Order: sequence, then C-alpha cells, then structure tokens
Amino acid sequence: MQDLQPKTDWARIRADFPILNERVHGRDLVYFDNAATSQKPRAVIDRLAHYYLHENSNVHRGIHELSNRATLAFEAARKRVAQFIGAASANEIVFTRGTTEGINLVAQAWGTKNLKAGDRILLTEMEHHSNIVPWQLLAQRTGAELRYVHVTGDDGLLDLSNFEALLDGVKLFAVTHISNTLGTVNPVRELCARARAAGATTLVDAAQSAGHLPVDVRSIGCDFLAFSGHKICGPTGIGVLYGRAEKLDAMPPYQGGGEMISRVDFQASQWNTIPHKFEAGTPDIAGAVGLHAAMDYLDEIGRDKIFAHDQELAAYAMQRLSEIDGLRIFGPRENHAGLVSFVLPEVHAHDVVTLADQHGVALRGGHHCNQPLMRKLGVPSTARASFYFYNTREEIDRFIDVLGEIHKFFSR
Ligand code: PMP
Repeated sequence: MQDLQPKTDWARIRADFPILNERVHGRDLVYFDNAATSQKPRAVIDRLAHYYLHENSNVHRGIHELSNRATLAFEAARKRVAQFIGAASANEIVFTRGTTEGINLVAQAWGTKNLKAGDRILLTEMEHHSNIVPWQLLAQRTGAELRYVHVTGDDGLLDLSNFEALLDGVKLFAVTHISNTLGTVNPVRELCARARAAGATTLVDAAQSAGHLPVDVRSIGCDFLAFSGHKICGPTGIGVLYGRAEKLDAMPPYQGGGEMISRVDFQASQWNTIPHKFEAGTPDIAGAVGLHAAMDYLDEIGRDKIFAHDQELAAYAMQRLSEIDGLRIFGPRENHAGLVSFVLPEVHAHDVVTLADQHGVALRGGHHCNQPLMRKLGVPSTARASFYFYNTREEIDRFIDVLGEIHKFFSR
C-alpha cells in the first residue's frame, strides 16, 4: 500500500537555518549544543525584523495604530502558546524571561503563600539548578523541607520504588520532563497523577521537552509548566509559565509595576486579572511574536516527527559512541531524548569540548547545571552532544571521527 504520510524532507528543513552554513576554525560547523539553545530558522528571524519594521510599539494601553498592532501580535502569541501546550485558556499563559523565571515565579508567589515550616517539597536528583535553587530559597524563607526522588545511576531513571512514601506531607512536587544531562524522558503524566492524589501541587520543567515532543498540559495534568523560547527555535529573553487558572487566580503577584495593576493609590493597589497580574512592566513583545513564529514553524514539521528524529539520532550516536574503547555513556539506553552525555577515559570533558571545537564541532562540557547529579554519578563533568531536527547522521559520523582522534591523542 502506498504511504499516505508525506515524507519529511529534513535536508530542506535544515536549509531554513542560515547559521548552520557558518564555518568554524576553517571547518563546516556541526552544532550539537541544542540543549543549551537551539538555532533559529529564517521564518523567526524574518518575523522579528517584520515586527520592528512595521509593528513596534508598547502594548495594551495604546490607542494609536502601532500600539494596536503590537498588542494584537502579543496577545495572538499568548493564544498560540495556549494551543501549543493544550491549555484551556490564554489566561493561563504568563510570559516570562524563560524557564528559570517561571519556576522562580511559582516558588515566590505560590510557595510563599502556601508553604509553612515542616511542609515538604519533593524534587528529583536529575533537576537542573533552575528547578532546585528557587525551592531552596523558598525552603529557607518558610522552613519547608526538601526531599529528592533518587536517580538509579548511569541508567539515569527515577527510582520510584518509594515514591508514595516520599510524597507523604508533600505540598509541591516539581520534576523535569526531559533531563538535560541524562536524556531521560520522565513519565510526567503518571508522576503528576500520583502526586496530585497525595495532595501535592505539581510543576513540570518542560525546558527540554516543549520543542521536541507534543506537550499537553491537560493530558499531563500538572498545575504549572515552564519552558523557554530560545530552546524551541524562538528568541532568547522570552519564556512561558502555564498555570491552572484557579492556581494563578489565588496567587499574589510576583513583581509590582505597570501592567499588573487595575488601580493604584498612594498606600495600596488592586491587581489586574490573570495573566497580566504576573507581567509587571513592558514585556518582551518582540520575543513573544518571534516565539509565535517558532511554534508555527515546529508544528508545521510536527513535534511527533521531531521527537522520532531526535530519538533516531540519539540511538545512532550511542551506537557509534560505544565503538570507542572505555567511553562511559550516561542515561537510559531506551526511550532516550535527543542528547548523549559521556566521558572519555582519562580525558577531562572540557578538553574534549575544546578539541572538538577546533574541528568545528560544538559540544558542551561541564556540570550542565546539574552539580548534585554529577556528584551522585561520581564525575566532575560530562561532555554532551545534543541534537535537533536539523542535525544529521553524517554530522554524528564527523563527531565520532573527531572523538576517535581525541581519544587516540590522549592514549598515546
Ligand atoms: N531546566 C532544564 C531541564 C534546562 O535544560 C534548562 C536550560 N539548560 C533550564 C531549566 C533553564 O532554562 P533557561 O536558562 O532558559 O531559563
């Protein structure tokens, strides 16, 4: 039977990213640092230019035409985000600077109101610093206690054997959807259901997932979810916090200023409705508009196809990496997201990354904002190759050749 699904033309898609034609140290660039930030397609770059050329103005209170254009574009982006993550309403979408600010907003506004001494916050050992430190600050302010779901070791899975016991007395459970170091895809739907059944409020860090696989907040069943525009082909400086309407409604504001009020008197003020209550000051209008273009771009390809492509590249990279003697790979072997962390025997990750850069291959080496996890794995750092849909098997072959040379050089 004929295949009715049109085949994705990945080579044509790759051509949408002008920066991928850069030469680095005299070589063709291989960009494998997508977990840190993604590259931007021409559609997003052009949309940003169009905004500044034809629509730029401040939003909401303007009466003139340009302000109307900017407001329409900004609020259209909010509606598009709601659709992108399956939220019930655009009122549940707060624009932030990124994942980090979204999590800080919840810890500050929701946490300070709802937590008291002795309450528990449950995280996992694979959280990014952005999903640890805001909760530590909250715990210090309130006297709440932090607990962690363990990670099983190099396999990089969550140990859920005592999850119900850990949930006892927990008011807030926060978990990453995809680990930025291990590539683990956590079963967030099941975890949130179990946490909610135990009475906890739930937050999902979708920094590594929102642009890589279909994400639906109502199907996940979380109360909050945060992600960053720059990791999903959008601009830097814009991010999203989703919050269930009843949660956002009941929260005090995060920051004070213009936009977030309905009335200000000399002694006290009244707050605007959600989501504006959480958006003090002039927002990143161009960022939101660029993010809208990025979401349209990704959904035209299809996030299910993007994830299948990510997984295929990761599987191929792991297979090729295991050809290198003594190389240690972290994270699960199956159901792996599009990134691979590894350590070459006797070679510091920073040396791997520095030497790979000389060959035009952009990797990342370090603790990846996962210092506690690194300690648990018993390494100071790892090298990481992280892929996106514009990467190719041929690039992985080049990366493996370069690693082979580095390995040979150090084992002389
Ligand atoms: N969480 C995870 C899992 C991440 O990978 C990152 C970025 N590396 C963040 C949070 C923080 O994102 P941002 O710096 O865009 O706020």
